[in-house]
Amino acid sequence: MTPINENFGKLPGSYLFSTVAKKVAAYQAEHPEAKIIRLGIGDVTQPLVPAVIDALHRAVDEMGSAESFRGYAPDLGYSFLREAIAENDFKARGCGIDADEIFVSDGAKSDSANIQELFGADARIAVCDPVYPVYVDSNVMAGRCGEYDAASGKWSRVIYMPVTAENGFVPALPDEMPDLIYLCSPNNPTGMALKKNELQKYVDYANENGAVILFDAAYEAYIEEADVPHSIYECAGAETCAIELRSFSKNAGFTGLRLGYTVVPKALTRGGASLNAMWARRHGTKFNGAPYIVQRAGEAVYSEEGKAQIREQIMRYKKNASLIREGLAAAGFEVYGGVNSPYIWLKTPGGMSSWEFFDRLLERMHIVGTPGSGFGPSGEGYFRLTAFGSYANSLEAMKRVAETKL
Ligand code: PLP
Repeated sequence: MTPINENFGKLPGSYLFSTVAKKVAAYQAEHPEAKIIRLGIGDVTQPLVPAVIDALHRAVDEMGSAESFRGYAPDLGYSFLREAIAENDFKARGCGIDADEIFVSDGAKSDSANIQELFGADARIAVCDPVYPVYVDSNVMAGRCGEYDAASGKWSRVIYMPVTAENGFVPALPDEMPDLIYLCSPNNPTGMALKKNELQKYVDYANENGAVILFDAAYEAYIEEADVPHSIYECAGAETCAIELRSFSKNAGFTGLRLGYTVVPKALTRGGASLNAMWARRHGTKFNGAPYIVQRAGEAVYSEEGKAQIREQIMRYKKNASLIREGLAAAGFEVYGGVNSPYIWLKTPGGMSSWEFFDRLLERMHIVGTPGSGFGPSGEGYFRLTAFGSYANSLEAMKRVAETKL
């Protein structure tokens, strides 16, 4: 018999979004008149901006002519895009990141799942709890997480850093020493972001202890507070301890187009090896480059008109976020996030579980959200709403929240 990777068998079912979909479908079938508003979605809804569409059209035309046709893209990304990224996302913010430290990919999901390949089988990981589930699941597949305890929802070798209302959603430095620390700021699902001094503590800790931080900044475009860093490289010393993951999905509406990048500084070494060289090798071996037309679309995100159009789009989502945050707070909910993020995180009232609240919201207000418990054990008793719907729907949802008793 061919041996298989038995770690896959350890993964508990991924029931969150399928259970949500099933419950909503069942409710709608029983109550066809119910006008259900979906505020659970983590996907963008506005179309790509004109600057991006124009760039796509131009690139498509280039592909149709022998003179300008492009075949395989460079494994690590076209220099026109890597340079635009270095210039706009880093140098403009005072971070000394160069184009050859940027690795273009098809998105942050694959990068955040694949980056663990650079590290040893015994590496201990630390994650915020709750958080984007890919970090843990990808390490489970690699055999790093030990055994799963269904009662607590925890893995025996994972170090959990709770982020809850009690600690202001700022993870405490872990008691046990991790090798890899996953941080996501602004965080999915809590919508809360680390301030520069808070992130600096992690950078100092990682440098002192030889740990590596994997910093996911997929939602950086939503940051509005001045003391919240957009990049971990705004913190002193981060280039010797941190890898940053970025996405064009929520910044520029590329969820369907697919583009992202990872920054691995040349100064980042462990065990005498350059992680930049290792990631270049890994990328070159396992990835044949993001599509030319998509990279041209990515370049357009950094054009003057692209920046202005995208800013306007983000502001529309942020307007929904404020509306939802304020509407919930006015109705007496304990609300977090939604300032530097498209996610609004609320404490379920009266000690209801996340799923009880899901049912209640669906039945009484016909609003769909996402139970916090789906993002980690410390998400129990919380609930996520998103600003990615339309303004009209967000408004109608908050009208229902104001007028309906739970
Ligand atoms: N990182 C976080 C924290 C996310 O929430 C998401 C998507 O929801 C991703 C990464 C995935 O981004 P991409 O669409 O670039 O794969």
